[in-house]
Amino acid sequence: MSIENDFQLVKEFDKKYCLQVFAPMDVAFVDGKGSYLYSMEKKEEGVKKRKYLDMIGGIAVNSLGHGDKELTNAISKQAEKFIHCSNYYYIAQRSELAYRLCHNSFADKAFFCNSGAEANEAAIKIARGYFYYKGVDKYEIITANMSFHGRTMATIAATGQEKFRKPFAPNVPGFKYVDLNDYEQLENAVTPNTAAVMLELIQGESGVHPADREYIKKVSELCKAKGILLIIDEVQTGIGRTGRLFCYENYGIKPDIMTLAKGLGGGVPIGAMLCTNEVATGFHVGDHGSTFGGNPLACAAGNVVMERLTDGQLLTNVNNSSNYLFDELNKLRDKYENLKYVRGMGLLIGMEFDENLISAAGMKERFFSMGVLVSAIGKSTIRIAPPLTISTSECAEFIKTLETILKSEVGKSGPLSTIIDGIKNITGNK
Ligand SMILES: *Cc1c(COP(=O)(O)O)cnc(C)c1O
Repeated sequence: MSIENDFQLVKEFDKKYCLQVFAPMDVAFVDGKGSYLYSMEKKEEGVKKRKYLDMIGGIAVNSLGHGDKELTNAISKQAEKFIHCSNYYYIAQRSELAYRLCHNSFADKAFFCNSGAEANEAAIKIARGYFYYKGVDKYEIITANMSFHGRTMATIAATGQEKFRKPFAPNVPGFKYVDLNDYEQLENAVTPNTAAVMLELIQGESGVHPADREYIKKVSELCKAKGILLIIDEVQTGIGRTGRLFCYENYGIKPDIMTLAKGLGGGVPIGAMLCTNEVATGFHVGDHGSTFGGNPLACAAGNVVMERLTDGQLLTNVNNSSNYLFDELNKLRDKYENLKYVRGMGLLIGMEFDENLISAAGMKERFFSMGVLVSAIGKSTIRIAPPLTISTSECAEFIKTLETILKSEVGKSGPLSTIIDGIKNITGNK
């Protein structure tokens, strides 16, 4: 049985059998190519594919776009040989990926897992293990308000947003929260028990808010001076997303621990926790592990992504497309009052609209109705994180769509309702 071509049944089964933790948009995709995804839609004349420009790339995951030949070849070749073997054995693909990651970063050692949350779990755990094995009583971890570090029990405790923690109390103890970019607050939060400071350099999930360069430099110096470990969560910002292989390179610092996931496998689930040899003493044999982590299939994918990112051309494309997008977005911001702020780095960009005029949810629906996929954050911010392979002409398509929407909203008032009416007009009854 395959229900792929019966969208009604897909929806019905989802509502009936899938735990309802997401609120999906009214679409399922059946195909992809480069920066585009295709949905199957029943029209009077028969089944037709509808094309969407994918400006969100599975939330910064599809780094090589859809259907990349090299990536799919590497995956299918590995799958034909063997998909998985246990970590009881040496794994060539894992050794190679660890080499690639360490060779191209501050890190000496890599641990592989399957997601961002797991990578952060490993980071939190090794930071505590590091001081435990030294016989030092340090366990507190300072994180930022409005941060996002994952959905597991330790990572919701690390996440500086109460709404993620409250229903699931009691939370894992030992976390403290400070405002990002307020150095004094962070300095005051440090105690003799502080083990680590854990930060995103760009807070992706809470609206694409970059940390200040000076702030991060001072935090890094403070950590060094006080023997505190600096954990940088690059689950979203890593793997070329910000125009450098890792975002910390933009800040002129070196963390002690870095976590990766989203873009690393180009869509194949994989996470990684990277650290220095010094920090690596925090885990002894048997202290940590993962059944799937570092398996040959996932690492084969990771190796293709890393190879493409380190041969120069892909990063050049990220920077070209990024420059084009920022130039055009800033022009639109100057031209249209309803676009307030343009934030981010590389191909991780947030656009904040005037919340009295445009809502994030409405804007996302409007883009969708015009065949463009974006993500909505909070009241009035749209985030884009397209494939790193996106061309400037595809970026131009996005800009054109955005301008069409902004233009159509000029002079209108009342936020959400206006836009929802607009959607009805464009796509018929949803
Ligand atoms: C997405 C994300 C996570 C969680 O990753 P999962 O793979 O969903 O567990 C953690 N940190 C940051 C910064 C993220 O963007």
